[in-house]
Amino acid sequence: MDVLDKITNLVKKHKAQLVIVSKTYPAARVREVYDRGYRAFGENRVQELVDKKDELPDDIEWHLIGHLQRNKVKYIAPFVAMIHSVDSERLLREIDKQAKRADRVIDILLQAHIAEEKSKFGLSVEELTSLAAKISQQEFPNIRCRGVMGMATFSEDKDLVRSEFALLRNIFTQVKADYISEPSFDTISMGMSGDYEVALEEGSTMLRIGSLIFGEREK
Ligand SMILES: *Cc1c(COP(=O)(O)O)cnc(C)c1O
Repeated sequence: MDVLDKITNLVKKHKAQLVIVSKTYPAARVREVYDRGYRAFGENRVQELVDKKDELPDDIEWHLIGHLQRNKVKYIAPFVAMIHSVDSERLLREIDKQAKRADRVIDILLQAHIAEEKSKFGLSVEELTSLAAKISQQEFPNIRCRGVMGMATFSEDKDLVRSEFALLRNIFTQVKADYISEPSFDTISMGMSGDYEVALEEGSTMLRIGSLIFGEREK
């Protein structure tokens, strides 16, 4: 049993989902994983995502997990399965606009800033709640808000990481109670190669894992 089988078993046990993060790895490596039956892949850059989509089978569900510039939304709007990284109202407006143009409804997650590092993108709790309120008032008819996403501090301190994941779960629960109670608001996207076990223990429903499966990335 290899590491991908191990992760898959744990994901099943927790009734969660796995997005395999293929950024920086060539399409041929993605194809090997695809041939084992996996269909959900994540990229953090639009150009790389579009290039890989062209090289790989059509039934892949592509997830955009990294910071997204508004002027690039149009390139992925026709096909993207989920955008995890909604970190501003202006970005959400653009996604809504491009979804309408593509004649579809796009699934999105609100990215919360839960880590200690200042460099990571994401909405504060206040910003996230205020955006959820606008979503609940049908301001964005061409998006469907499926939940929240966050990245914990890159740290060996498991208690810190655990507390940040717990915070994200609490944000999810609060938004569901106050604003978006639809059954489709069901996703907490948290957990990467270094912290996925803690993330599952803290209620993750969707892991995003790359290097543990493909091997360390080249810098
Ligand atoms: C790269 C990336 C991941 C996966 O990271 P690994 O450590 O390779 O598992 C997950 N989420 C986001 C947003 C990323 O950019």
